Amino acid sequence: MKCNEIRNLVLAYLDSELDAKTSQEIQLHLQSCAECAELFAREEKFNERMFRVLRVGQSTPAIWEKVESRLRPARAGGWLLRHWKRVALGGVAAFVIAGIAIFVTPRLAGSSLDLARAVEKDHGEFVAGEMRSQFVGNVPDEIAKTFQGRLDVDAFSTRPAADGFRYEGARLCHLSGVPVAWSLGRIQQTPVSLVVFKRSELEHFPKAKERLDSGEPVVCSNAGRYQFAVRFVNGYVVCLIGDVKRTELEAVLKTVRTPTG
Ligand SMILES: [Zn+2]
Repeated sequence: MKCNEIRNLVLAYLDSELDAKTSQEIQLHLQSCAECAELFAREEKFNERMFRVLRVGQSTPAIWEKVESRLRPARAGGWLLRHWKRVALGGVAAFVIAGIAIFVTPRLAGSSLDLARAVEKDHGEFVAGEMRSQFVGNVPDEIAKTFQGRLDVDAFSTRPAADGFRYEGARLCHLSGVPVAWSLGRIQQTPVSLVVFKRSELEHFPKAKERLDSGEPVVCSNAGRYQFAVRFVNGYVVCLIGDVKRTELEAVLKTVRTPTG
């Protein structure tokens, strides 16, 4: 069987609904195909989690009995009937999980910060070694020529005064169409990106703009697996992102100076 045929059987397999021969074929495939094995493991974990959440509700069996007695005469047949309980449970689980998410996310609200999201992607490429610097030090003329007033060379010299950030080079990037000075560096051994752009471009990131304009001196957030912090420095918006402690990131961000002071 091919991967997609195997994957179509994941639910039936986990429910032990397949004949012995097919089950064995799947087991053999999973031993040799890491991708399918991972998908099956994930599905199994999700099921376990879902039922663990549902077991917490004690009144549940009584409700199911009531619903079941009403549904039975309908005899809908097919997969849905065999699985209606599971489908219904799934719905409840999704509801419970969504509820938990709503309570928990305000503390992690970071990923909802538009600017953090935009920076996260390119930083991930830097960490993966897919994004490299174009130059070290002064901005080459052919790059400066493309700014068209939306960026300037000083943005590339706007850096932390703290020794903590080791500058390794820079490049021009575009975030949602906004030209930005992207400096690649490290705090200790960890790759950290310093992203600088003109304050007049902040309107492209309304959420970040709202929070910075409201007077928060530093806005921090999660950006996927990274920490993100942003503040104004003179006429610039300055962001730092990396897999380092938030307090450390903030401390380095506070020392950022423009070349003109
Ligand atoms: Zn496979």
